[in-house]
Amino acid sequence: MEIKSNKVVSINYTLTSAEGKVLDTSEGHAPLTYIHGKGNIIPGLEKALEGKKVGEKLIITIPPEEAYGIRDERLLQVIPHSSFEGVEKIEPGMQFQANFEGHPQIIVITKVEGDNITIDANHPLAGEQLTFDVAVTEIREATEEELSHGHAHGSDGHHH
Ligand code: ZN
Repeated sequence: MEIKSNKVVSINYTLTSAEGKVLDTSEGHAPLTYIHGKGNIIPGLEKALEGKKVGEKLIITIPPEEAYGIRDERLLQVIPHSSFEGVEKIEPGMQFQANFEGHPQIIVITKVEGDNITIDANHPLAGEQLTFDVAVTEIREATEEELSHGHAHGSDGHHH
C-alpha cells in the first residue's frame, strides 16, 4: 500500500529549523498519525509523502510558503495591558491562547512598553524554512468514521 488520499498514515519525524535546531520530534512519543489529503499536516510534507510506502525514509526541506506560511506584519498588534485579565506580569516571549479573528490562535508577546503590549499572532513557525526527517511506519485504510470526522483516531478507535 502506498500513501494517497484517505489513507491513514503514521510517521516518525524530527523537525529542524534552518539553523539546525530541533523544533519537534516524535522520538519518545507515539508516531504522528494523520489522514492523507485532508490538510491535517503542512502542505509541503503532505506533498512529499504522496506515494511513499511503509519503511521509506526521507529528508525534505520545506519553504515557509509550504509550511506555516510567510510572516504577516499585519498580525502584529498593540493592545493594552487590561486585555490580559488576571495576568499580573507580562513579559516578551510569553505565549497565550487567544481567539483571533474567530480562530483559536497562539499569540506571542513581542514587546512590553508600559501599558502597550505588542502581540504577534503569526504562527510561531511562520517564515521558517523547515526540514523534516521522516520515516513511514504504518499505512492503512481510513474508517468511515475517521473520514467523516476528517482526522485519524487512535488504535483503540477512540479520539486521542
Ligand atoms: Zn473523530
